[in-house]
Amino acid sequence: MIFVSFSKEAGMFKRIKGTQDFLDLTLFNFIIEQAKKHFSEYNFTEIATPVIEPTDLYHRSTGQESEVVTKQMFRIAVKDGEQMCLRPEITPSIIRAFIENNVIQTPWKVFTYGPVFRYERPQKGRYRQFHQLNIEVIGSESISQDASFVKMLDRFFSDKLSLRNYALLINFIGCFEDRKAYRELLSQFLDNVEQDICKECKIRKEKNTLRIFDCKSPDCQKIYKDAPHITDSLCKECKGEWETLQEELTLLSVSYKVEPTLVRGLDYYSKTVFEFVSDSLGSQSAFCGGGRYNQLVSQLGGKGDQPSVGAAPGIERLMLLLEPIRDTLVLPQPPALHLILPMSKKQDMLALLLADTLQSEGLCTDILLEGGSIKSMMRRANRMGAKYVLILGDEEQEEKKVTVKDMVNGKSDQILQVELVEFLKS
Ligand code: AMP
Repeated sequence: MIFVSFSKEAGMFKRIKGTQDFLDLTLFNFIIEQAKKHFSEYNFTEIATPVIEPTDLYHRSTGQESEVVTKQMFRIAVKDGEQMCLRPEITPSIIRAFIENNVIQTPWKVFTYGPVFRYERPQKGRYRQFHQLNIEVIGSESISQDASFVKMLDRFFSDKLSLRNYALLINFIGCFEDRKAYRELLSQFLDNVEQDICKECKIRKEKNTLRIFDCKSPDCQKIYKDAPHITDSLCKECKGEWETLQEELTLLSVSYKVEPTLVRGLDYYSKTVFEFVSDSLGSQSAFCGGGRYNQLVSQLGGKGDQPSVGAAPGIERLMLLLEPIRDTLVLPQPPALHLILPMSKKQDMLALLLADTLQSEGLCTDILLEGGSIKSMMRRANRMGAKYVLILGDEEQEEKKVTVKDMVNGKSDQILQVELVEFLKS
């Protein structure tokens, strides 16, 4: 028999690049709890969809030429040839669920949250597995819906999450016909600067012209500052809606900045597009993106168009924004810990029974079963943040008592075991 010896180093697994272990979920759960509260106050229902979806769903929605589909999809190889992937965004899954489950009650106002996967170069605020909240209104054409939706998000960030240092960037990319006309104008502009733009933008120009605005090269971005604005190519109806949207946002006291180069990286958007950004996040400044998508339902095989609007706040980036103001937030506190210290193995069974009684009464209870001197056990109790220490020694066992030490004021009491719950609850 051959024994292979592994060095400690070689036997250790590391997490996959671009993923994170969350050892403290306080901020994560705070965001989710606040979101559940906030969006249900606005009459949204929580739903959940799978993290694996048919690959084709994203080809037909996010877009064949979008960076998400061309470069960032985690495809899963399955024996029977079925093409599936880990979802690179959630909106198409929600639309699939809307169609597949024959939802007839519209507007369908839903929210969800969970992991999303994109094969990107990891850096601060950019992961390969990250988490998004997703909020969608499916089946509502009114542009006032967009104003109300953006206000709801703004209120979530400012009131529920207490964020201050952020801005809303907004743009209006019109209807299909407007974008067709604009694409020609943009192409003409690009003809004149073609020698100065990067190789990828040259391809984008031919394949999906509006995607040039997603280019990460600062040189290209500088050139595109002089590009024609899509809002100057809007038809009469879209122009009216764009004006109404701005008026209504002002009416609702939402501060915003019009960003003419904001087109968003996904193909299905039409009309309203927006991003919430913060300087505090560095180069990955957007922490929520969204907009209107009017044709996605029919594009994905649904009956007729269901004009919709949605948004996806990124949870990791929200956590980065919350970390510096953590002390000012009203975060849920862990329950007071009651820690039972059996002084020897003889008291273990009694400790188990007492713990079971306290736990059944809803009191947070743990036992130090590893033994040690009273001094070392008290030190551990301190480190664990115990509020009460319940000491069980020979004497306590014999007299059917417990020595209860309040770790905050240092006071000790001997309590009869049968009266312990009542004592701790009072
Ligand atoms: P998008 O659909 O690309 O607009 O993304 C919506 C939001 O998800 C962004 O505003 C970010 O907050 C978050 N997000 C997108 N990509 C990543 C990533 N690779 N890592 C962490 N968060 C991300």
